[in-house]
Amino acid sequence: MVAVTSADKPTMECETEHFLGAQRQLDEIAEEMGLDRELHERLRYPKRALIVTVPVRMDDGSVKTFTGYRVHHDVTLGPAKGGIRFHPEVNLGEVSCLAMLMTWKCALMGLPYGGAKGGIRVEPWKLTTGETERLTRRYTSEIINLLGPDKDIPAPDMYTNEQTMAWIMDTYSINVGHTVPSVVTGKPVSIGGSFGRTEATGRGVAYCVRRAVNHFNIKSDAPKVVVQGFGNVGAVTAKLLHQAGYKIVAVSDVYGGIYNPDGLDIPRLMAYVSEMGKVQGFQDSQEVANKDLLTLPCDVLVPAALGGQITEANADKLNCKIIVEGANGPTTPEADSILHDKGIIVVPDILANAGGVTVSYFEWVQGMMHLFWSEDEVNQRLEQIMGRACDQVLELSTKSKLRPRMAALRIGVSRIAEAKRLRGLYP
Ligand code: GLU
Repeated sequence: MVAVTSADKPTMECETEHFLGAQRQLDEIAEEMGLDRELHERLRYPKRALIVTVPVRMDDGSVKTFTGYRVHHDVTLGPAKGGIRFHPEVNLGEVSCLAMLMTWKCALMGLPYGGAKGGIRVEPWKLTTGETERLTRRYTSEIINLLGPDKDIPAPDMYTNEQTMAWIMDTYSINVGHTVPSVVTGKPVSIGGSFGRTEATGRGVAYCVRRAVNHFNIKSDAPKVVVQGFGNVGAVTAKLLHQAGYKIVAVSDVYGGIYNPDGLDIPRLMAYVSEMGKVQGFQDSQEVANKDLLTLPCDVLVPAALGGQITEANADKLNCKIIVEGANGPTTPEADSILHDKGIIVVPDILANAGGVTVSYFEWVQGMMHLFWSEDEVNQRLEQIMGRACDQVLELSTKSKLRPRMAALRIGVSRIAEAKRLRGLYP
């Protein structure tokens, strides 16, 4: 037998701890479902990854250089789809891990997309608007060969928003010589965005919370919810659950959290935050540190901030019945098994926060067809698709005694595997 050297095994520079965590998850489910070994190996790495240098003229006249990434994990089912984030922790491993999650997420939701992610390593809060615009435009032009409505369609992610998408769309359009709204999703409605896109991720999370509470028989007239993060995802989730009669007992942002065991008045809190820029100091609430917020007693915990928040260090101290993951990757694989042993149910990110990419898909479809739906139509269709995916995950989870995360992954992975098998290998 020929000895196996390292050159016989694919390895890639994206193999950070973060990425290896996503890969281990794939390995686990591949083993469980008896996935063909060669197909499995093809899915363990990104299809392509681009690293770019992004020089930016700062307001003081100096030039600063940043590092940017765009990774396509898989494009078997259609164009690569996924957000772009601006954050100091962005690196090739993180972006590749998140691109892989997008592949499973899109496949799970039945969307005709592959998985992508991009980002720039930068502290976005230190840039002026002009600097952010120049950074976004230069990054877009550096990755432009990957982009296109049939190739790769970016969307907002951490610290990027509608305005960022408008700049990307404009830069792309100027370069190709005509206006191409469908090259991004999550853009402003006035330039071809969809009604309901901004709220879509939070709306999907709130939907999953309600489904999980019913399915797992949480007996309470007003289930108690803790939300970590009060950005686009956390605040919308809190608002919709509050409207549905849930008691939001604690929320937090980067500066810290607030707690009221009798429930917070979320509409007033939203008004307070838009004036003060943070949640702390809000009436009838006590302050709570971010790390303590996660261990407060509640029925449902919604981590909707950064990744890697629920870890080996705190999983054992959690005091909730269900976790619904609003953020991408908020639970480490080690924490996942501790939670499982404790009997805490985790509704995984690739299902719970998939409302965002689902309405991105609606935006893309509307753009390509040049016709537009009302907000009610968008929300109705979103609930239909979320409902179908929730049913499939819960059914498989019960039938095969799989944790919901593994059931969701299994559905996503098997759809990609089947498509790859049917398409065959070129040449
Ligand atoms: N960034 C979001 C996510 O992680 C949305 C992606 C999209 O809409 O393409 O799912």
